Amino acid sequence: MLSRSAAATLSFLRTLPTSVACETCIGAYLRAERLDVLKIIRELIEAGRILCQYAECPVCRERGIVAEVRRERAA
Ligand SMILES: [Zn+2]
Repeated sequence: MLSRSAAATLSFLRTLPTSVACETCIGAYLRAERLDVLKIIRELIEAGRILCQYAECPVCRERGIVAEVRRERAA
Protein backbone atom coordinates (compact mmCIF):
# COMPACT_ATOMS: atom_id res chain seq x y z
CA MET A 1 0.00 0.00 0.00
CA LEU A 2 1.18 3.48 -0.85
CA SER A 3 1.02 6.29 1.68
CA ARG A 4 -1.57 8.97 1.09
CA SER A 5 1.06 11.45 -0.07
CA ALA A 6 2.53 8.93 -2.49
CA ALA A 7 -0.89 8.12 -3.93
CA ALA A 8 -1.61 11.85 -4.28
CA THR A 9 1.71 12.34 -6.08
CA LEU A 10 0.92 9.53 -8.46
CA SER A 11 -2.50 10.94 -9.33
CA PHE A 12 -0.97 14.41 -9.76
CA LEU A 13 1.59 13.03 -12.23
CA ARG A 14 -1.16 11.21 -14.11
CA THR A 15 -3.07 14.47 -14.64
CA LEU A 16 -0.09 15.82 -16.59
CA PRO A 17 0.05 15.17 -20.35
CA THR A 18 3.51 13.65 -20.11
CA SER A 19 3.11 12.20 -16.58
CA VAL A 20 6.38 13.93 -15.69
CA ALA A 21 7.15 16.58 -13.07
CA CYS A 22 10.16 17.64 -11.04
CA GLU A 23 10.46 17.43 -7.28
CA THR A 24 9.82 21.19 -6.98
CA CYS A 25 6.51 20.99 -8.85
CA ILE A 26 5.48 17.91 -6.86
CA GLY A 27 6.34 19.76 -3.66
CA ALA A 28 4.31 22.77 -4.75
CA TYR A 29 1.33 20.55 -5.51
CA LEU A 30 1.55 18.67 -2.21
CA ARG A 31 2.63 21.77 -0.29
CA ALA A 32 5.32 19.54 1.16
CA GLU A 33 8.89 20.19 2.24
CA ARG A 34 11.63 19.06 -0.14
CA LEU A 35 12.76 16.35 2.27
CA ASP A 36 9.23 14.91 2.40
CA VAL A 37 8.99 15.04 -1.39
CA LEU A 38 12.23 13.07 -1.65
CA LYS A 39 10.85 10.44 0.76
CA ILE A 40 7.68 10.16 -1.31
CA ILE A 41 9.71 9.85 -4.52
CA ARG A 42 11.82 7.13 -2.94
CA GLU A 43 8.70 5.30 -1.81
CA LEU A 44 7.27 5.41 -5.34
CA ILE A 45 10.55 4.24 -6.89
CA GLU A 46 10.76 1.33 -4.45
CA ALA A 47 7.15 0.46 -5.25
CA GLY A 48 8.12 0.43 -8.95
CA ARG A 49 5.58 3.13 -9.78
CA ILE A 50 7.87 5.87 -11.08
CA LEU A 51 11.26 6.39 -12.68
CA CYS A 52 13.55 9.32 -11.98
CA GLN A 53 15.94 10.98 -14.36
CA TYR A 54 17.75 14.23 -14.90
CA ALA A 55 15.76 16.17 -17.48
CA GLU A 56 13.81 19.32 -18.16
CA CYS A 57 10.56 19.50 -16.21
CA PRO A 58 7.66 19.95 -18.66
CA VAL A 59 5.80 22.00 -16.04
CA CYS A 60 8.34 24.61 -14.88
CA ARG A 61 11.00 24.14 -17.60
CA GLU A 62 13.80 23.85 -15.04
CA ARG A 63 16.34 21.07 -15.49
CA GLY A 64 16.57 18.76 -12.52
CA ILE A 65 15.41 15.48 -11.12
CA VAL A 66 12.06 14.63 -12.65
CA ALA A 67 9.72 11.80 -11.73
CA GLU A 68 7.93 9.93 -14.47
CA VAL A 69 5.08 7.47 -14.03
CA ARG A 70 6.10 4.04 -15.25
CA ARG A 71 3.96 2.94 -18.13
CA GLU A 72 1.58 0.12 -17.38
CA ARG A 73 1.92 -2.84 -19.70
CA ALA A 74 0.15 -2.01 -22.95
CA ALA A 75 -3.52 -2.81 -22.55
ZN1 LIG B 1 8.96 21.46 -12.36
